[in-house]
Amino acid sequence: MSLYNFILLNLIWIGIALIIFFSLVIFNIRAPYGRHSTDKWGKMIPNHWGWFWMELPAFLIFPILVLVGPREKDWLTYLLFGLWTLHYLNRTVIFPFRLRTRGKKMPLTIVFSAIFFNGMNGFLNGYYLGHLAPEDQSGITINVIIGLALFFGGMYINYGTDSRLIALRKKKAGYSIPRGWFFRWVSCPNHFGELVEWIGFAVVAWSLPAITFAVWTFCNLVPRALNHHAWYHENFEEYPSQRKAIIPWLW
Ligand code: NDP
Repeated sequence: MSLYNFILLNLIWIGIALIIFFSLVIFNIRAPYGRHSTDKWGKMIPNHWGWFWMELPAFLIFPILVLVGPREKDWLTYLLFGLWTLHYLNRTVIFPFRLRTRGKKMPLTIVFSAIFFNGMNGFLNGYYLGHLAPEDQSGITINVIIGLALFFGGMYINYGTDSRLIALRKKKAGYSIPRGWFFRWVSCPNHFGELVEWIGFAVVAWSLPAITFAVWTFCNLVPRALNHHAWYHENFEEYPSQRKAIIPWLW
C-alpha cells in the first residue's frame, strides 16, 4: 500500500471513530456486555471466550505484520512490539480467564464488531512498522521517556483496577460499590488507565497509526465509562456523588 493510501485509510478510520463516539454519546447506546448484557442483540457466547476471540486479532496481526514486513527493524520497533505484545498477552489470554463471571454471556454482534476494531488497529500499526516507518536514528528521546512513563503508569492503573474489581466479585456475589484506590476519583479507573496507556504508546511511537489508535481508544472507552457511571447511579442510591466517570475532576 502506498503511503498516501495508508494516510487516507487512517483518516477515514479516525472519522469512523468520531462518528461512533458521537452516536454512542448522543443516543446513549450501551454496549451490551458485562453489566449491560442483554440477549436482544442476538446469539450469545460465554463471556470469557468472547473476550478471547475479540482480542485475538490485535494480539496476532500486529506482531505478524511487524515480523514478516520487509522493513529493517530498529530498536524503537522492537520496543513498540514489546509494549503491544505485553498488553495483548494480558487482555487476550490472561484477563478473560481471571474473570469471575462464569455463566455470563455476551452477544456475537459485540464480538464481531470488536474483532473488526482490533483487527484494523493491529493492521494499521503492524503494517506501518513492518513496511512504511522511516528508520529511527534519533536514539532515546524525551518523547520515548515520557511515553513509557505514561504507558506503564496507565497499565499499572488498568491492571490494578481490573484486579480489584475481580476480587470484589469474589467477596460478594453480584455488584457492589468499589471504594478506595483510584475509585475515589472515578467510576472506571481501568478505562482511564487504558486510555493513558495508549496515549503513552502514541507518544513513544510518534506515528499516525498510533495516534489513530489512541483516538479510537478514547472514542470507545469514554462512552463505556459514561454508561458504567450512569448504571452505578441508577443501581446504588448511596453512590458517591463527587465521583466522575473516567477523567478525575472533569468527566
Ligand atoms: P468492568 O469494569 O465493567 O468489568 C471488569 C470486571 O469486573 C468484570 O468481570 C465485571 O463483571 C467485574 N465488575 C465490574 N464492576 C464491578 C462491581 N462494581 N462489582 C463487582 N464486579 C464488578 O470493565 P469492562 O468489562 O468494561 O472492561 C474490562 C477491561 O477491558 C478494562 O480493563 C477495559 O479498559 C478494557 N477494555 C478496553 C477497550 C478498548 O477499546 N481498548 C474496550 C472495552 C474494555 P461483569 O462482567 O459481570 O460486569
